[in-house]
Amino acid sequence: MAELEGLEFGKSDFVLLDEVTMEQFMENLKLRFEKGRIYTFIGEVVVSVNPYRQLDIYGKEVIEDYRGRELYENPPHLYAVADAAYKAMKRRAKDTCIVISGESGAGKTEASKYIMQYIAAITNPNQRAEVESVKNVLLKSNCVLEAFGNAKTNRNDNSSRFGKYMDINFNFNGDPTGGHINNYLLEKSRVVQQQEGERNFHSFYQLLRGGSEDLLKSLCLQRDPAKYTYTSQGASVTLVCPNLMSLASNNDSLCHKAVMAALKVIGFTTEEISSIYKILGTILHLGSLQFTSDGEHVVLVGEDTVKHMSELTSTEPENTTKALLYRTVATGGGEVIEKEHSEQEANYGKDAFAKALYERLFGWIVGRINAVIEVKDYNPALHGKNTVIGVLDIYGFEIFDNNSFEQFCINYCNEKLQQLFIELILRQEQDEYQREGITWQHIEYFNNQIIVDLVEQPHKGIISILDEACLTAGKVTDTVCLDSMNKKLGQHPHYTSRKLFPTDKTMEFNRDFRIRHYAGDVTYSVEGFLDKNKDPLFQDFKRLMYNSSDPVLKEMWPDGNMSITEVTKRPLTAATLFKNSIIALVDKLACKVTVKDCLLSLWSCGDTGTSSVCSPNTSSQHMLLTL
Ligand code: ADP
Ligand code: MG
Repeated sequence: MAELEGLEFGKSDFVLLDEVTMEQFMENLKLRFEKGRIYTFIGEVVVSVNPYRQLDIYGKEVIEDYRGRELYENPPHLYAVADAAYKAMKRRAKDTCIVISGESGAGKTEASKYIMQYIAAITNPNQRAEVESVKNVLLKSNCVLEAFGNAKTNRNDNSSRFGKYMDINFNFNGDPTGGHINNYLLEKSRVVQQQEGERNFHSFYQLLRGGSEDLLKSLCLQRDPAKYTYTSQGASVTLVCPNLMSLASNNDSLCHKAVMAALKVIGFTTEEISSIYKILGTILHLGSLQFTSDGEHVVLVGEDTVKHMSELTSTEPENTTKALLYRTVATGGGEVIEKEHSEQEANYGKDAFAKALYERLFGWIVGRINAVIEVKDYNPALHGKNTVIGVLDIYGFEIFDNNSFEQFCINYCNEKLQQLFIELILRQEQDEYQREGITWQHIEYFNNQIIVDLVEQPHKGIISILDEACLTAGKVTDTVCLDSMNKKLGQHPHYTSRKLFPTDKTMEFNRDFRIRHYAGDVTYSVEGFLDKNKDPLFQDFKRLMYNSSDPVLKEMWPDGNMSITEVTKRPLTAATLFKNSIIALVDKLACKVTVKDCLLSLWSCGDTGTSSVCSPNTSSQHMLLTL
C-alpha cells in the first residue's frame, strides 16, 4: 500500500508551505525524511532524499496504487512521475522525458531503475512474448552497463562513470517495442589510475573474483586484483551490494554471474562474450607491462605478457611488440618512417592504448544492446504513432579533493541541465503568465547561463582556450594554458585562480583554478587537462587492432584502416566532442518538453540538507513559481 499522508509528516508538496524560505523548505524536508518520507512534490517535480537503506515502498501493491492515477491522488513517489509520463505518452501520444538530476550519490541511478521497473510492471497486460522480451532486455541492460560503466568512488560505491539517456519506444497499445541508449563520455582515465580509496570499473574485479577457473586460465589471469597494476592501486575492497536492484549482486563474484546471464539474455553470442573478456584480460596484462632501457634502446620486460596479449587479441606477437615500442610517422617529404619510443613515450602509449581499448569496448557494448532493442519493422500506418519516454540519468555534480578534467566535463553538463530547467520551467512559465495577463510577482532567479558561457563560449570560453592550447605546435604545458585562462577570464565573476587571488591559500599557484558553479565552488587542478583533452593514441595501436583476426575486436577499430599519411587531420578534442554531445542532448530534451507538463523531473539530494544541489537558488525557484 502507498503510505498515507498526514500533517504529522509535514507538507507533501512544497507549494503548500506557509512561507517560502530556505529554512521552511529544509525543515519540511528534514521532518519528512525523519518520518521515512523520502519523496516530496514541488508541483510536478519530485524531490527525493537518499535513504541509504532498503525501504518497503517499491512493491507490487504500491505499483498498483499509482497505476493510472493522477499525480496528486497519491503521496509523492517516483511512481507518480513515471505514471504521469506514461499517461502523457499514452493518452496524448506525446513524447515525454524524465530528467533525473542531483549530485553524485544522490540516488539518480536507483531512481531510474525503479522508474523502468514501474513502466515494465504496468505494461503488456496480455503478456505478449515479444513485448516481454523487449522489457527483459531493457531491464537487463542496466546490469551490464553498470558492470562496465560504474565504479566505486569516494562518494558512491556504485557511481555511474558515464552519462545515460535511454529512450523507450511504445506502440499504440502503450506497450514497449524497443529503445535506444545514448551514452556520454566514459571516464576512461580510471582504467589506468584511480584516486585513493576508489576502484577501477567493476567489470575487472567481477572477472577476477567471479570468473570460472577455466575462463581465468584461458585469459592467463590469476584470481587476485592485487596482482595487476590497474586493479591494485585504489581500494582493494570487495563491494558489498553495489547494485541494490538486482538480487544476485551482493558481491563482485555474484555480480559476474549476473552479468554473464544478462549478456546472454540480451543476445550476445558466446564468441562476443568471449571477446569481451579477452579485452578485459588484455587490459590487465597491458597494465603489468614494463619498459626499461638497455642503454641504447627501450626494451620490454616480460615477453610472456606480450605473448598473452597477442593471444587474447589475435595478433602477431612481433606486431604487438612493435606497436608498443615504435610509432610510424610521416615526414615532411611524404616519407613514412618508424620512430623508436622513449621509455616515457612507451609508458604513455601503453596507458593510452588501455584506456582506448576499454572505451571502445564500452561503446561497442552499448551499440550491440542498441542493435537488439532497436525498433524494427515499425509501420506507423499499421501500428499507429510510435511514442517515446526518455529517461535521463547523467552523472551528478561532483566535488572531490582533487578535481580534474572529468569533473570539469561532468559539472559543465550539470550546468547545461540546470539551464534547461531554467529555460523550461522558470522562463516559459513566467512568459506564459505575462502573455495571459495573470498577475504574479516576478521571481528573481539566478540564471546560470553566465557559467555555461564561461565554459562553452566560442573563442572566449574555457573549452576554446583548452582547444587552442592543444592546437598550438610545440610544448604548451597545462600551466601555460592556465595562464592563458587567467588572462582571458580574469574578470569573470565565476572564475578565479591563485594568481588572481594570491591570498587565497586554498588554491595552488600555477595549478588550480576555481569555478563558482550554480551548485557550489569547485577547485580544479589543471594538471593533465591538455593531455586528456587532446587524448592522443598512436595510429600503430589502431592498426594493430584493425588487423586482429578476432572479428569483434576488428569491428571496434574501423579507423585502424587508415594509413599514417591519411591521419594528418586533427580530430576534435575530448572537451569539444563532449560539448557537442551535451548540446545535442539538451536540444533533444528541449523539443520533447515544449509542452510544460511533459517535463517531469526529479531532484535528488544526497542527504537531509547539506547537499549543495538543494540550495535555494535551484530547487526553491520551482517552488516559488508554482505558488
Ligand atoms: P547516483 O546515481 O545519484 O550517483 P545511486 O543511484 O547510485 O546515486 O545511489 C547511490 C547509493 O545510494 C545506492 O547504491 C544505494 O546504496 C543508495 N540508494 C539510492 N537510492 C536509494 C533508494 N531509493 N533506496 C535505498 N537506497 C538507495
Ligand atoms: Mg548514477
